[in-house]
Amino acid sequence: MESSNELYKREFVDVIAPSYTTPSITLVSGKGATLVDADGQKYRDFISGIATNALGAAHPKIVDAVSKQIKRISHVSNLYSNPQSLRLATRLREFTGDRDAKIFFCNSGAEANEAAIKLSRLTGRKNIVAMTGSFHGRTLGALSITGQESKRKPFLPLLGNVKFVPFGDLRSLKRAVNRRTAMVIVEPIQGEFGVVEPPSGYLQGVEEICRKSGALFAIDAVQTGMGRTGTWFGFETEKIRPDIITLAKGLGGGLPMGAMIALKTAPSFSPGEHGSTFGANPIVAAAANAVIDTIEDQRLMDRAVELERLFKERLNTIEGVKSVRGRGLLLGIVLKEPRAKEVVSALQARSILANATSDEVVRIAPPLIITKKDVSTFIARFSEVMAEL
Ligand SMILES: *Cc1c(COP(=O)(O)O)cnc(C)c1O
Repeated sequence: MESSNELYKREFVDVIAPSYTTPSITLVSGKGATLVDADGQKYRDFISGIATNALGAAHPKIVDAVSKQIKRISHVSNLYSNPQSLRLATRLREFTGDRDAKIFFCNSGAEANEAAIKLSRLTGRKNIVAMTGSFHGRTLGALSITGQESKRKPFLPLLGNVKFVPFGDLRSLKRAVNRRTAMVIVEPIQGEFGVVEPPSGYLQGVEEICRKSGALFAIDAVQTGMGRTGTWFGFETEKIRPDIITLAKGLGGGLPMGAMIALKTAPSFSPGEHGSTFGANPIVAAAANAVIDTIEDQRLMDRAVELERLFKERLNTIEGVKSVRGRGLLLGIVLKEPRAKEVVSALQARSILANATSDEVVRIAPPLIITKKDVSTFIARFSEVMAEL
């Protein structure tokens, strides 16, 4: 009999727009860091829907918060307010340490960055400087500031007035930024590009350049934020004060939510200048509040840092591993040979889910609720795979 995974695969090819590689398995359920496919095969999850299921699958706090909220009211639109999004905004503002920060809610990372691009126009300036290798999303505005040629090329012309400079290179940035620059946008760690970290002190340098020219300093914390790298926004290891912070991925704990935080030094939208029908949706906001409650109650940010050390220590001893980069539970395992895709398939055959961002890099971004035992399981399977290849 044909497996359910195979049937779903055929159906996928038949009905889903071919913008993604056809997935080899179809996931139907899960609990925590265990996921189950259509044939009943179980996996340990080390990618969490690309750094998104911060608390894993079916976390009781999220299930409870969402269930309660959906029984009350699902959607109010921006004509009305709702306590869930107000509570969430208040908490995000607290995390920034800026009492005058204002939050715009949307549904994805791309939308959060679109909001940032539009906000930057309110400075009266039009130019944006972004980084090579960056990823800010797939909509036309977000793609315009994404520094990856292959993703941009078929869709030219994109927004004009965008300049790219090498990530981590302050000298080039200094040359590119001037009094016509509205915004400089940077990821604390380039997640999609293979978990690439800038040199230490880089973000401080970016801020200095922005302050001198009057450009807004925007941090895209979509992948690094919500505790994944050990802090709320992923940049706090450097003493910086950005003007804009964007969030999504982990924010809704698996439900679609994005946010653009405008600090007091950023311009503000006037009524009618920006909006989103589903933004600040009470169900999704309830999930995000449950994510924050759980990260705080279970001290998951400390755990992320502790497990980072464990992962790095043990991965670095494995033959074939060149280096391990990243912070907290966003790690890139750089291989000596370009076999990351094979490694990821072999891991999957051993019931471990991870992801290859390129031929050299295996990315892991497990749910923040994983345990030391899960780390050991990963290390054991990964060692087996590396020994076999
Ligand atoms: C994933 C990602 C985005 C895009 O988020 P979507 O929700 O897919 O639109 C933007 N920026 C960064 C840094 C990301 O990792």
